[in-house]
Amino acid sequence: MARVFNFSAGPAALPEEVLKQAADEMLDWHGSGQSVMEMSHRGKEFISIAQAAEADLRELLAIPANYKVLFLQGGASLMFEMIPINLLRGKTSADYVHTGEWAKKAIKAAKTFTNVNVVASAEDKGFTYAPPQSGWKLSQDAAYVHYTANETIGGVEFNWVPETGDVPLVCDMSSNILSRPIDVSKYGLIYAGAQKNIGPAGLTIVIIRDDLVGKAQPTPPAMLDFKTHVDAESMYNTPPTYAIYIAGLVFQLLKRTGGLAAAEQRNIEKANLLYDYLETTDFYRNPVAKSDRSRMNVPFTLKDAALDEEFLKGAKARNMVQLKGHRSVGGMRASIYNAMPIEGVKALVEYMKEFAASKG
Ligand SMILES: *Cc1c(COP(=O)(O)O)cnc(C)c1O
Repeated sequence: MARVFNFSAGPAALPEEVLKQAADEMLDWHGSGQSVMEMSHRGKEFISIAQAAEADLRELLAIPANYKVLFLQGGASLMFEMIPINLLRGKTSADYVHTGEWAKKAIKAAKTFTNVNVVASAEDKGFTYAPPQSGWKLSQDAAYVHYTANETIGGVEFNWVPETGDVPLVCDMSSNILSRPIDVSKYGLIYAGAQKNIGPAGLTIVIIRDDLVGKAQPTPPAMLDFKTHVDAESMYNTPPTYAIYIAGLVFQLLKRTGGLAAAEQRNIEKANLLYDYLETTDFYRNPVAKSDRSRMNVPFTLKDAALDEEFLKGAKARNMVQLKGHRSVGGMRASIYNAMPIEGVKALVEYMKEFAASKG
């Protein structure tokens, strides 16, 4: 069977090239006579895979030397808890920006550890925009400022980086990391679950400025302390070895294809195709403020929700899957991460036009 265009929000499509390479290397990785899945994480083969993955990620994101890169487990959801546990550093509050479903979960988790100041919220308009920094009420004594760079469910993305002075900026980049170049030096900590735009589920990437490591008060249990994982170079316990390997192949592919600047151009082109069409029709609607529309996740509703099932069925018949919107917002959502080829977006727009025309 032909591969489908998979618009899943996560776990999401992976580049076909990477899957093919993994298949070729499945039974015998580089003459080792074993699959990467079967290797000791302490053996020289796997260590070389992990080191190359880190080096390639550092190169892609131009990560400065004073930042540590961690390959952890537990997803972004564990980071919602590890961040307050580690970054409060004896302080009694943290600032959070509320932009939708994922910010809400981060806020809820942080509240069990500290006082959370919601310094800005987009709730007044149903989480359809990124609150401009001019309206943020940052606190002087906050331990850090947390925001969600891309709200995967609402389809709202920050295309600017907040300025927080000396207060460390912490960012959930789960659904837009590697979609564009970023200036890592503006952040205290960046984290991302891999299953949206990096690789398989089970791997969580953390990029942390080294002065923020080892300052947790009180000292957390070992597994919850970033210092443990920094000191052990992400090998304190068994890391998600196969997921690290696949992520490494994705990094190599990105490097071969022009790095993140080129990835950004492709993502702009794909997103524009879809948004430009949405502008021309009132059959479909995307509620997000134009300047804050996500390049990665494009939610849209049909004029008549009674047509949703038929729309999805017709899409499936054309090899396009996972377009159903998140249950909290309904309608449709097209996730068009790095691995979605432009042909997939073209096919979707063609189908949307046809469907709209057939329903008058
Ligand atoms: C998917 C997602 C999460 C949750 O990730 P898990 O790996 O399931 O914990 C958190 N934040 C954002 C922005 C996401 O897209």
